[in-house]
Amino acid sequence: MPSTLIYNIGAIVSGDLRVPLIEADSVYVEDGLIHEVGTDRADADTIIDANGLTLTPGLVDGHTHPVFGDYSPTQNSVGWMHTYLHGGTTTIISAGELHLPGLPLDRPDPKLFRDLAILVRRCTSTYRPGGLKIVGGTMLLTPGMTEADFDVLADEGCRVVKFIFFPYDRAIEEGAAYTQWAKARGLTVKIHSGGVSRSGLSVPAGAEVVKALQPDVVGHISGGPIPMSLGDMEALVQDADGYLEIAYAGNPRWSVRVLELLRERNAIGRVTVGTDTPSGTGTVPRGMLRTILLMSSLGGVPAAEALCLATGNTAQAHGITSGLVRPGYPADLLLMGHITGSNGSDALEAIALGDLPGISTVLVDGEIVVRERSQQTPPPERLARIVKER
Ligand SMILES: [Zn+2]
Repeated sequence: MPSTLIYNIGAIVSGDLRVPLIEADSVYVEDGLIHEVGTDRADADTIIDANGLTLTPGLVDGHTHPVFGDYSPTQNSVGWMHTYLHGGTTTIISAGELHLPGLPLDRPDPKLFRDLAILVRRCTSTYRPGGLKIVGGTMLLTPGMTEADFDVLADEGCRVVKFIFFPYDRAIEEGAAYTQWAKARGLTVKIHSGGVSRSGLSVPAGAEVVKALQPDVVGHISGGPIPMSLGDMEALVQDADGYLEIAYAGNPRWSVRVLELLRERNAIGRVTVGTDTPSGTGTVPRGMLRTILLMSSLGGVPAAEALCLATGNTAQAHGITSGLVRPGYPADLLLMGHITGSNGSDALEAIALGDLPGISTVLVDGEIVVRERSQQTPPPERLARIVKER
């Protein structure tokens, strides 16, 4: 069983909002899983000297649009997943594979949408560009689906279904039934909330629609790109349950407002994080990091908590076993620190001040996938050092 020891860690962010920081300076990994957090062991097949850097779970981007392989038709770009990995993201969750070139979105077809989700799920379940994990196969909901479609989806291992091109005005009860069918099978229900998407064909959805459909996650509550009205956002914070997604592609002003409202109500644990990219916003390798900076430096969320929202909380919202530094969890881990010249003296202080942290080493399932420095952030002032490799 291959093993990895990471020692000399400056701080460990747990990914668990209830206890954001762990008092330990080492992690021992065996067979791809975290085995011990704080260890007396002195040897392993691979040994990494963290050199005082901060260790966090790999970031979980809860809102992405994978389509085919590591290619984004939206921006005609190849290799975006690989760049996201170097931005600290170790898992991406699909919010629908709707940007397939030529896919006729003006004629939503239940069978086609189901089969597209299954196709992408099968293509992405073991495909890991550079090491990135893809939770693909998100079914877009459209009238005419049957309960059997949800059985097939769950059997295929798909995780998420999403409302976006749905005629809420004439089929809201059918939509509410879909939510029930999905939840009964352990699928996460997401809705594209707010104004029309880039396709121009999605249907706006505010608080009334969300309350009628009861999704698990309100996708980009503060805009992706256009938010619902401020009154509707406030209503969902105040009189509804469920996760509220803060997206990089959203309206930064309202993201800050939603965080403020949640903090006032001691309900920051309802936040899940994503980039909503690739999209018209671009392919943004540092999109998750920048959303963490927004939440912490302007949204009043302490840096370690912002990291927990972007890791363990987002994984939990989508039913994924990931995002925690905890024995038994996949060793998807990041080592980061402050960049030379930063106002912060470590990664957490830099984040709180809004300064991008630098990523040194990234591991996925205990394998080193980014070595001593990332290609997408400036290097941190101190780099981790791979002392021994099997
Ligand atoms: Zn989206």
